[in-house]
Amino acid sequence: MLRLCLHPSIVSFFYAISESEASMSQPDQCPKCQSTHIYQDGNLWICPECGQEWVPSAAVAEQAVEEDSSVVKDAHGQVLVDGDSVVVLKDLKIKGSSSAVKGGTKVRNIRLQDAGDGHNIACKIDGLGSINLKSEFVRKA
Ligand SMILES: [Zn+2]
Repeated sequence: MLRLCLHPSIVSFFYAISESEASMSQPDQCPKCQSTHIYQDGNLWICPECGQEWVPSAAVAEQAVEEDSSVVKDAHGQVLVDGDSVVVLKDLKIKGSSSAVKGGTKVRNIRLQDAGDGHNIACKIDGLGSINLKSEFVRKA
């Protein structure tokens, strides 16, 4: 109830702050009454004019990504699991070696790993041995 008692100029002030820190994905008006005097309280957006409170879809998506940080996805957003086969999308140089993984190479039986450097797929490729790949450069076969 306290929020609804805020003077409009204070609300505008709050809005100005959140606007200056806002990313492109943040809402600029109330989905119910289209008022632009909305402001943010944590993840919640509040419209003081009609009392509408909502969580923007962008914020929800962000949370989902955080929760799913252990999920490994290929270049097309398909979830990869241990034992999957993938196709390498482009030529990838192998660190510390003169050889490269050619784009189009099919890799069987991948193993997902939690690598700090983003090489979240461990696999073996004929002629190259054990290498690590980044999931963004492969697609599920
Ligand atoms: Zn409203």
